[in-house]
Amino acid sequence: MENTQKSFNVIVVGAGTGGATSARFAAKKGLDVCLIDRKPRVKIGDKICGDAVGNEIFDFLKINHPKNEELSCYIKGAKLYSPNLKKCITLLDPKQAGYIVNRLEFGQRLLNEALDSGVKQFLDNTMALHLLYKNGTVTGLQVKLENGEKVNLNAKIVIDASGFYSPLRKNARSSLIEKNISNNDSILCYREIVKFSSSDQQVDDPEYISIILDQEKAPGGYMWYFPKNESSINIGIGTFMDYGGKVKDLYKTNVFQEFIKTSNIEIISTGGGVVPVRRPLWSCADNGFMLVGDAACQVNPLHGGGIDPSMRAGFHAANSAVHAIENNDNSINELWDYNYNVMTSFGAEFASLDLLRIVLQNLSNEELNFGLERDLLSGEEILEISSTGGLNLSLINMAVKAFKGISQPNLLLDLNYLRIKMKEIAKLYKNFPKELDRFPNWKENIIAIYDNIERMIVNTKKK
Ligand SMILES: Cc1cc2nc3c(=O)[nH]c(=O)nc-3n(C[C@H](O)[C@H](O)[C@H](O)COP(=O)(O)OP(=O)(O)OC[C@H]3O[C@@H](n4cnc5c(N)ncnc54)[C@H](O)[C@@H]3O)c2cc1C
Repeated sequence: MENTQKSFNVIVVGAGTGGATSARFAAKKGLDVCLIDRKPRVKIGDKICGDAVGNEIFDFLKINHPKNEELSCYIKGAKLYSPNLKKCITLLDPKQAGYIVNRLEFGQRLLNEALDSGVKQFLDNTMALHLLYKNGTVTGLQVKLENGEKVNLNAKIVIDASGFYSPLRKNARSSLIEKNISNNDSILCYREIVKFSSSDQQVDDPEYISIILDQEKAPGGYMWYFPKNESSINIGIGTFMDYGGKVKDLYKTNVFQEFIKTSNIEIISTGGGVVPVRRPLWSCADNGFMLVGDAACQVNPLHGGGIDPSMRAGFHAANSAVHAIENNDNSINELWDYNYNVMTSFGAEFASLDLLRIVLQNLSNEELNFGLERDLLSGEEILEISSTGGLNLSLINMAVKAFKGISQPNLLLDLNYLRIKMKEIAKLYKNFPKELDRFPNWKENIIAIYDNIERMIVNTKKK
């Protein structure tokens, strides 16, 4: 690449949903952007996924909603099943409605729109190797081109949207950014897209995504059944990471054999992947560097949905890059507003849901059946939690619940304590420090909440 440009305002690594959105909005606002991806162009967007995305992100970004070949089907809402399948909570809210997309077509559209927005250079089949630094600030990165040549590319800002296994995060020279994500905060998934080849079996509930909680069949995660179109479904399982060698067997026994009742099928796609299910990284930025999407753990901890937040974060990162370039300052102090925008918006919701996720992962099937059947957590509350990260229960409501829950008083007390802590953490995130110097103190308060929840779980297990 002797004669091609090697210096940019911004290099975006990864052209998935987060990277394509970052590149698009940075280029649209006039920045000199280079976008790279290790995949060949025609494969970008082809990701193992449940393929579900809500309406809201398209209105938020003012971009086209999925349509034509990109759209597999419309979704009205979600159905959540208790382990014994006796209770089904229907989550119906216009905000939760959305789409099942054809992931490749969707990804190709986002990529093409990013390139049309004025991205200066797009390098596919190009692998990001490591960041380049000068005086503690990122100045670019080394990449390996399709022909094996290693090249240094310079930039004032690198946006890392390279997904969960980000090699850049692991080697970042930063005391603010966590390098490794704990196995306890990740979920291992396996899924297949199955097409019914005859009318022996129809797609169940074609307007809803279905989620089945079951600590024995899908320990730490859940099983899902998502419609794809009139004759295909996307079914899968998520479990704790410890089930590494067993997740496919669990899928075969607990998902495939349960849901597929005919041999007249075609398996369109198979594969696994890992999703981070925790609050975003403590800091999603440092000098000359920002992380977006899975690379920054910006995934809904309750259901593992990461398309919407990765695109939201891409938009915020692009805006912060624009200000930084305008002010000729790529220091963390200048980029801190990216953290601020993430933490005070979906970060607050995700921190709150992270506490709920940790508690749910520690409940037995018996407790889940009890809690869901007695409406200790109702459909409205689940929606309120997942859209706002908090709960506002009236005293009367609490008293009714207390009465209902009398045969499991510990569970009820734990859930009430959890509610209080979820509100507390969401409030702290909403008040995320505007300046870096107040961050250590804020972080201590958050750690204290996590410690409280961990202690509650340990104490409950002892009883
Ligand atoms: C099984 C499964 C089911 C899921 N279901 C859903 C769902 O239904 N709805 C939902 O919203 N979310 C779902 N998710 C999560 C969602 O897929 C991710 O959160 C989302 O894709 C994150 O986007 P991203 O841009 O951060 O990363 P990715 O989409 O992973 O994109 C990363 C890009 O970076 C590129 N890359 C990686 N390393 C390098 C490198 N070294 N150099 C150059 N390029 C590199 C990759 O090729 C890729 O194109 C699911 C995840 C899994 C695993």
